[in-house]
Amino acid sequence: MELCGPVGRDAPGASRWGHDPVLFDGMEDEIPASPSALVTCPVCSGSVEVWVDGGGDAAALAEVEHLVDAQPELGEHLAVTWHRWDRSRWLRTALGLTVGAELTACPGCASELLVVTGHGEFQPGRYVTTLQGVAPIRWPHR
Ligand SMILES: [Zn+2]
Repeated sequence: MELCGPVGRDAPGASRWGHDPVLFDGMEDEIPASPSALVTCPVCSGSVEVWVDGGGDAAALAEVEHLVDAQPELGEHLAVTWHRWDRSRWLRTALGLTVGAELTACPGCASELLVVTGHGEFQPGRYVTTLQGVAPIRWPHR
């Protein structure tokens, strides 16, 4: 997977913590069954619905990890850093949230998009999802 355009970090109407748009902020019992939020397509500026439950897509996250290893400046742009413990490592956001990723397509321009989020229990019982980046992608070997 390669990025083939600008990495956006906008979500319509979202408040921001630092540079991170907040897609969800609520107590555990307020989380809807199918939580979603809108992010802005970096190609056409249209709105794209994404899931905010933090589950994400393990294969997409593995691609993000490869990209951040290959392009450290991308990690800076997404505001994610490696944390290491023993022999494992994982990406976290500046707020300490766990990084998740999913692939989707923009309904406006049909660009295939990689959506990178931060998610987790920010305070006891309080769950937060932030947008770390949205970027158009392509698969050069497909
Ligand atoms: Zn679009």
